[in-house]
Amino acid sequence: MQDVLEQAKEVLQILHDNGHEAYIVGGAVRDSLLGIPVHDVDIATSAKPEEVMALFPRTFPIGIRHGTVLVRHRHIDYEVTTFRSEYGYRDRRHPDRVVFEDSIEKDLARRDFTINAIAMGLNGEYVDPFGGREDIRRRRLRTVGRARERFREDPLRMLRAVRFIGQLDLEPDPELVEALQEERRLIGYVAVERIRDEMTKFLSAKWVARGLKMIRATRLHEVLPYIKERPDLAFEKADSADYTVLETDVERWSAFWLALDVRDQALEAALRTYRFSNKALKAVLSLARAFVARRIREPDRETVYRYGVDAVLAVERLKKAFGLIETVDEAAVRAIADRLPIGNRKDLAVDGHDLQRWLAKEGGPWMREAMEAIERAVVRGDVENEPKAIRKWVNTWLAPKIKS
Ligand code: ATP
Ligand code: MG
Repeated sequence: MQDVLEQAKEVLQILHDNGHEAYIVGGAVRDSLLGIPVHDVDIATSAKPEEVMALFPRTFPIGIRHGTVLVRHRHIDYEVTTFRSEYGYRDRRHPDRVVFEDSIEKDLARRDFTINAIAMGLNGEYVDPFGGREDIRRRRLRTVGRARERFREDPLRMLRAVRFIGQLDLEPDPELVEALQEERRLIGYVAVERIRDEMTKFLSAKWVARGLKMIRATRLHEVLPYIKERPDLAFEKADSADYTVLETDVERWSAFWLALDVRDQALEAALRTYRFSNKALKAVLSLARAFVARRIREPDRETVYRYGVDAVLAVERLKKAFGLIETVDEAAVRAIADRLPIGNRKDLAVDGHDLQRWLAKEGGPWMREAMEAIERAVVRGDVENEPKAIRKWVNTWLAPKIKS
């Protein structure tokens, strides 16, 4: 049993001791059965939110209307949610009504997939009314109930399906695949931020190529924001990148759009459509640009100096993802950085005043160009970062070129 689950059982125990039922539910149970690390633990309980808040000293009402209270116990946060069912999804986004229930079975019935609808009790016993454990054993993804109905209630579940297929290497039930294809247009009702966040998780999945194939096979891409407006894009190229070598969401999103040949202004438009934050938008744009500009260049002193180790390594990983290089030589890039004579322009041994004195010239636009040339020469190692050496270099190489 993983430690996180053992810890969570203390929370179950407290709820039990006060006369409530409580179970670990959702991803934590699923992942522990799959033998992969559990990151956060969700708890379902018969206790009402006020009762949960009264029992634990440190709580935050994060979704009280839906029955969710965040409980902090021994420095770990748990989402504790009252057993509930959901009715009506007229806007295809939110249930019209959330009803608190008194049984775990009813709570499990509202969940999306059988593998996510298993509860684990205090003594390690399972409540598994939909055969989730059997599906985990057979690595099968099935909805709880009819797939089409469940996708109509909340179309985001279609993207969650693709995400779980890619994350956990699951074989989707034929009924689920058919429902994806039949109901795909309902993705149009999902808030673009939710689509984006689900796709972000999906792109970091271990078997992302598998998920991408599922998207293609069911033509889900035809309804995805931005991509739906660009029938000219070859979505089959989306898996021409090996996303598993990439380390950040920025790298993965860059690879995704580069694979589809979406760059420059089109890339900016795509990122805006997905409502990325300005910070994320800039990061993806500049990484994609750096990749395109330097796809054939080796990381050298100039690139490491200009862009920094992290950005150069990100470009190297992109190159590897697209099969342009065999390995990312991180140590070599770091060695280049360590040996750089200067960290930035301010570290230069000379400044504009020195130049003016040496060349007996008035200040002007020539100075900026000259300083840039000196900076480049020092970074490249053409000249030592030392006033005398630089003066000599300026007289030999630079002075003849400076226009008066
Ligand atoms: P992970 O946290 O690894 O992304 P998870 O399965 O825990 O995966 P969450 O989004 O944290 O996913 O949701 C917790 C649980 O809530 C799920 O396991 C599932 O039972 C239920 N759930 C989440 N989203 C939905 C949904 N859109 N429809 C139905 N049930 C859902
Ligand atoms: Mg979770």
